[in-house]
Amino acid sequence: MINAFVALGSNIEEPARQLATACQMMAALDQTRLLAVSPVYESPPMGPADQPQFLNACAQLQTGLQPMELLDHLLGIETRMGRVRRRHWGERCIDLDLLLFGNREINQERLTLPHPGLYLRDFVLQPLQDLLGREYVMPNGEYIGTLLAVCTTGHLIKRNIQLSGGEDYGNPP
Ligand code: ATP
Ligand code: CA
Ligand code: CA
Repeated sequence: MINAFVALGSNIEEPARQLATACQMMAALDQTRLLAVSPVYESPPMGPADQPQFLNACAQLQTGLQPMELLDHLLGIETRMGRVRRRHWGERCIDLDLLLFGNREINQERLTLPHPGLYLRDFVLQPLQDLLGREYVMPNGEYIGTLLAVCTTGHLIKRNIQLSGGEDYGNPP
């Protein structure tokens, strides 16, 4: 079983509900347990500015799936949740990015690991740091805390929304 981390993002159709649904669907995946979910943050849109603020969080999974299989499941959840691709970095009801899969490195267009945006985005690094601690050493040899300090925008707002992981999703212990 490998530890994998997934970034969740949503900015339309009740984003908090979307994040909760995505967590439930990840917890129900084959050979996979949802171990933990970070706090939820509100962040300004990264792409076009004429769209609502995002809610972001990070989930820790333990999985027996291969990286490409997990990616396919995540993209499948996006589709089942009704994601429509309108414009690059545009509004979406759910975005599930595979950030880390153990210490695997993959450089394919369909799957790049670690995720190419991981070291550059505070709305990804902050919830990941909440799960792993600021002294967690990332695959590039740097502390999460150092990477986060470099890319922080000061625009993240911690929201009082609880997306609990583990037993709350009905997985057996
Ligand atoms: P960004 O990747 O910059 O966050 P995005 O999430 O809006 O942008 P999408 O349209 O959701 O981009 O995804 C485009 C493609 O990225 C997916 O079809 C997928 O095959 C590919 N991809 C490559 N690496 C990853 C990864 N680590 N996690 C998720 N998708 C990935
Ligand atoms: Ca993304
Ligand atoms: Ca994506």
